[in-house]
Amino acid sequence: MSDADLLRAEFAENVRRLADKKIAPFAASCDENAEFPAHSVEAFRELDLAGLAFPEHLGGSGADLPTQVMVIEEIARVCAASASVLLTPWAALTPLIVHGSDDLNHRIVPDVAAGRALASFCLTEPGGGSDLAALKTRATRVSGGWRLGGTKRFISNAGHSTWYSVLARTGDDAYGVFFVHRDDEGLSFGKHERKMGMRGFPTADLYLDGCFVPDDRAVGDTARGYHYMMDTLTYTRPLVAAHALGIAQGAYEHAVAYTAGREQFGKPLSRFQLVRAMVADMKTQLEAARALLYRAADTAVDNTSRSRAMVSMAKLFCTDTAMSVTTTAVQLHGGNGYMSDYPVERMMRDAKVTQIWEGANEIQKMLIAKDAFAEFES
Ligand SMILES: Cc1cc2nc3c(=O)[nH]c(=O)nc-3n(C[C@H](O)[C@H](O)[C@H](O)COP(=O)(O)OP(=O)(O)OC[C@H]3O[C@@H](n4cnc5c(N)ncnc54)[C@H](O)[C@@H]3O)c2cc1C
Repeated sequence: MSDADLLRAEFAENVRRLADKKIAPFAASCDENAEFPAHSVEAFRELDLAGLAFPEHLGGSGADLPTQVMVIEEIARVCAASASVLLTPWAALTPLIVHGSDDLNHRIVPDVAAGRALASFCLTEPGGGSDLAALKTRATRVSGGWRLGGTKRFISNAGHSTWYSVLARTGDDAYGVFFVHRDDEGLSFGKHERKMGMRGFPTADLYLDGCFVPDDRAVGDTARGYHYMMDTLTYTRPLVAAHALGIAQGAYEHAVAYTAGREQFGKPLSRFQLVRAMVADMKTQLEAARALLYRAADTAVDNTSRSRAMVSMAKLFCTDTAMSVTTTAVQLHGGNGYMSDYPVERMMRDAKVTQIWEGANEIQKMLIAKDAFAEFES
């Protein structure tokens, strides 16, 4: 093990302890009451987790992507909603950190890094999320800035965030990224969506009704926002994959403990060969997913066609693993697994969305195939 790996493993132990002690006890009630996990935001402060993904000169700790991945996995292992609350601002601020002015970075990032503010990432619209280039939200040039009009759909942390990074059309084939503040005139929110899972993680529409954004809150080149967001997804998809893997890991641990303790036909379920085979399959899927994810996280910064395909493979495989492992975990709990008294019921519901968001898995397959055929189709 390298020194970096050892440090990461030690940090993982600390995060796991924090997650078990301060986050896990509230996961069920958060889900049941569709309640924002404020206690988790408080817990993140103990290890300065909110700032992990941000550079040190902006108040963060500048952790590399594999370390961020490890942290998200540990939190999602006990509470998927809390892990998403943590990672969403990392995604939202990535275009700003890479392409934004120093001044805008200093106005936004330190508060988010210190856990005093949240941020949301606003791409999807009512017309669709997969075909992002077809988006309709428009930014119109006016004196001193831009006026934004349109609707963003299913926005995570909406209403709880102070800042919203919004992708809007600035021309026929041009898009900009704009930072909208919660108090800006012309910004309002829809109802909080009632969801199958991830119920403690808020989701709502964002309405932009002639919302004025001054020039100094536009990121970089206002014709290149689409590329900024596509690059951002290469860095954030490993986090979404880690989130899914964490859910799967949590469900696996519950299934092992349950089958070791529950007796049928005079012996523990874990003594039955069919049950052991199911557990062996789960463990193999988890380790394969983890290996792929860390490989993708190591190479994501290259941002080549190959590394983007690796990231898509990790997102696809980790999220399919999450659905498969959580479903098997419910099966191994029998009738109890269908009851909300047991965490695997929540974990199976939480897993489903990971196959849909941040580019549905069918979109990931398109990207992987694009790289596979690149030399024949360029
Ligand atoms: C809980 C939740 C939170 C979310 N948070 C955010 C957020 O914070 N910010 C944000 O911008 N968005 C967010 N989203 C939106 C999410 O990213 C989109 O739902 C997702 O990208 C899919 O877009 P869509 O729902 O419009 O489905 P569509 O684009 O209508 O696609 C529907 C389905 O069709 C299939 N499909 C689509 N295109 C193709 C194709 N070319 N080939 C084959 N199959 C295809 C896929 O199976 C896909 O799932 C969130 C969604 C959910 C459910």
